[in-house]
Amino acid sequence: MEKEHKFSIWYVLIGIWIVLIVQSYIASMFALKTIPYSQFMNLLKQGKIIEIAVTENQIQGKMRGPEGQTEDFKTVRVDPELSTMLDQYKVTFKGQIESTFLRDLISWVFPIVLFIGIWYFLMKRMAGQQPGFMSLGKNKAKIYVEDELKIRFTDVAGVDEAEQELTEVIDFLKNPSKFGELGGKIPKGILLVGPPGTGKTLLAKAVAGESGVPFFSMSGSEFVEMFVGLGAARVRDLFEQAKKRAPCIIFIDELDALGKARGLGGVTGGHDEREQTLNQLLVEMDGFDSKIGVILMAATNRPEILDPALLRPGRFDRHVLVDRPDKVGREAILKVHLRTVKVDPGIDVSQIAGMTPGMVGADLANLVNEAALLAVRRGKREVDMSDFEEAVERIIAGLEKKNRLINKREREIVAHHEMGHAIVAMSLPGTDPVQKISIIPRGIAALGYTMQVPTDDRFLMSRTELLNKIASLLGGRAAEEIIFGDISTGAHNDLSRATDIAKSMIKEYGMSDKLGQVYLAHDKRSPFLDMGMQSPGDYSEATSETIDEEIRRIISSQYKVALDILKEKKDVLTKGAAVLLEKEKIEQEEIKALIQGV
Ligand code: ADP
Ligand code: ZN
Repeated sequence: MEKEHKFSIWYVLIGIWIVLIVQSYIASMFALKTIPYSQFMNLLKQGKIIEIAVTENQIQGKMRGPEGQTEDFKTVRVDPELSTMLDQYKVTFKGQIESTFLRDLISWVFPIVLFIGIWYFLMKRMAGQQPGFMSLGKNKAKIYVEDELKIRFTDVAGVDEAEQELTEVIDFLKNPSKFGELGGKIPKGILLVGPPGTGKTLLAKAVAGESGVPFFSMSGSEFVEMFVGLGAARVRDLFEQAKKRAPCIIFIDELDALGKARGLGGVTGGHDEREQTLNQLLVEMDGFDSKIGVILMAATNRPEILDPALLRPGRFDRHVLVDRPDKVGREAILKVHLRTVKVDPGIDVSQIAGMTPGMVGADLANLVNEAALLAVRRGKREVDMSDFEEAVERIIAGLEKKNRLINKREREIVAHHEMGHAIVAMSLPGTDPVQKISIIPRGIAALGYTMQVPTDDRFLMSRTELLNKIASLLGGRAAEEIIFGDISTGAHNDLSRATDIAKSMIKEYGMSDKLGQVYLAHDKRSPFLDMGMQSPGDYSEATSETIDEEIRRIISSQYKVALDILKEKKDVLTKGAAVLLEKEKIEQEEIKALIQGV
């Protein structure tokens, strides 16, 4: 940045210098023959001067040359009195106009250069702080247009339903006029809804690629981070440009940044700009006929906070869900990204998909990349399963930081804690198998971790399974209490997850005998939510107390379950922890052997 801007100043200086040289060269080409003033006087006396024009300090004119031809000349005047005197003594003399070139340069050019320099510097600085500052007026710089996108539906995997819903749009974009004749109803706005990294942008690009139309894109947050009025101008500009190139797609990422419901988040103030921009967007959406072939697509992961005006018929009335992929979907996504990587034919993609529940497309792309990097670092020619396993670990729990030191006592606590999770989990039926226990510190959050891999993605869970899950989450703390007679802060994430499950069991799944089959998780939306005020649920104070009681009861009874299991298997716990302390990680088979072996 710094370097580039110095460069530009040099360009300006060199430019000025070149102009000056060229100018003086041209001036000299047209310059008249200059003669000394004394010679002029002589010529005058000899009658050789034909005509002259006098200016303040120069005389220009025509004279007769030695061979009688006419010649142009000029001379600089000298004070008449002085010249008469000098003439008497036959001195050769001439007038000279003082060169003001350098003075002009310094008094004119230098301040200009200085001014330009300072202005340029300030602009740079401001542009750094204020995105879009440089592009006042027509904001073409920030509107991205891509023609002939190479992305196709085959590059987007695991979102088949979304693709199906979008095929109609592609048919339309390929031939807008014909589509209308057939009476097809074309949506104006399509809202892609889903968590970050699930491939919403990719999908929108694939629609453009499949239809062979230009793809205009902007991010909702870019509209807002500007001075008042600019966002609206930019929206206008975006639509203007897009309409000229119809059929085409306009894609607005992070629509929520721009389309947050009006009135929400008023505390922070200064949202006039966003509102203006939003209004302009609504105006533009209403103002064009979809028959011209402009399709507006937008992405958001928080559809619930969008201004209802955006979702009305004729605006973003078509919603397409782009959800986290299931196991089959993950496998398909992995295959897409594996196309460009040299992999060992022995790898089992479905197994990798099984290890990555909850990951989205972007994570999986990252995973493949990470595995490939690991293989390169290990000097391999193909990426094999061990690279993927390690990459999964890295991505799940942050980067492996072998050399981050934790003290001996802490390591012991962590080892027993993790072993506690594993033993409780493996002793209870219906919990996910423990695939790996590790006490290698990764990242900040997790000191160690126990990796439980669900065999399949689950949609239904029984009460017993949920209770067992809570018990295994509490197994870590229970182990600490049994071995050390004290508990540590290491369990706070376990506690929060266990509590969440217990809360859902009672409030959502009707699994508490005391409260019965009642749904108690109604979440009343109110504008106050944004200000951090909780809206009260629609149940009585007494019910609320019972809920708290029931949560506490479930947690403490499951804690007792964990304690009982671990007390019974205390020798497995100590032995397992010792192995863990020595090797830092234990794999599934070894865990099984440990637990069954004693
Ligand atoms: P979003 O817009 O939903 O946040 P992106 O479309 O920007 O997600 O996805 C980021 C990257 O992740 C993509 O460029 C692609 O490499 C990868 N990716 C995400 N979802 C998928 C998918 N369904 N299939 C293949 N790759 C995907
Ligand atoms: Zn734990």
